[in-house]
Amino acid sequence: MVSYKELGLVNTREMFARAINGGYAIPAFNFNNMEQLQAIIKAAAETKSPVILQVSSGARKYANQTLLRYMAQGAVEYAKELGWEHPQIALHLDHGNSFELCKSCVDFGFSSVMIDGSALPYEENIALTKQVVEYAHQFDVTVEAELGVLAGVEDEVAAEESHYTKPDEVIDFATRSGCDSLAISIGTSHGAYKFTPEQCTVDPKTGRLVPPPLAFDILDEIMKRLPGFPIVLHGSSSVPQEYVDIINANGGAMPNAVGIPEEQLRRAAKSAVCKINIDSDSRLAFTAAVRRVLTEKPGEFDPRKYCGPARDEMEKLYKHKIIEVLGSDGKAL
Ligand SMILES: [Zn+2]
Repeated sequence: MVSYKELGLVNTREMFARAINGGYAIPAFNFNNMEQLQAIIKAAAETKSPVILQVSSGARKYANQTLLRYMAQGAVEYAKELGWEHPQIALHLDHGNSFELCKSCVDFGFSSVMIDGSALPYEENIALTKQVVEYAHQFDVTVEAELGVLAGVEDEVAAEESHYTKPDEVIDFATRSGCDSLAISIGTSHGAYKFTPEQCTVDPKTGRLVPPPLAFDILDEIMKRLPGFPIVLHGSSSVPQEYVDIINANGGAMPNAVGIPEEQLRRAAKSAVCKINIDSDSRLAFTAAVRRVLTEKPGEFDPRKYCGPARDEMEKLYKHKIIEVLGSDGKAL
């Protein structure tokens, strides 16, 4: 048994309470490798933003859960080296799908876990979430649950259609499960292809696809029923078209990739939405930078020469999200 507190990590309780009161949101960035983690920590340390490091099931398979946890421990020390005296870093399991997995993460130093029972029948989702909450809370580990179904594909999480969260269910769900935060479905979606061209309109000026707006009316209803309760948005990448263009201009093929406009995320961040998950955007930043270097320098074979620029590009992206979209800069001095 390893306590996250010994590793210098924090859970999300305090972070979320302050974010709701302060009208901003905490970035939750997924990481799978060293370059991504360096970029996240550097961005968070230099902007003094609380940050949630997320480990998905795909990341655990790719990089090994043990290694990722030690990397997160290293990240705390790295943050201090960068001059961030009191780093506020949470290590969070993204889309845990069983009690056993959540328990193993709690036992191994994670400060927060998500139990995603959203594909289960309602009562089973409550029962599973409650089981995880009862275990995790013994160790002061916070638990995120999900109600409603997001469309899109993210690692092993995939759904054809979305089902918006039903506001009438949220009080019962939150009360009976005891979860600390709730991921809801209001039109965000996993992956880089969040909407089909048929779901979008076309901006006559740019010719770009414009996605349908998020269901803020549902968010408002949920906030009315659960005042001050931490709400989470998954699948909230914006799929910056500059990256898609670089990828496509350098041998890639990502037609019709489209995300959530930053305007809408800015609006969400000011509400009870206090955690916004961003994964695809950093994948795009990484891939765009690597493709560009390899096109411009076909003889390059030192991974540091293309992973380095990829890391710089991700850091730029993370800082942009923190400062320009979520407003979490300067909140972890
Ligand atoms: Zn997700």
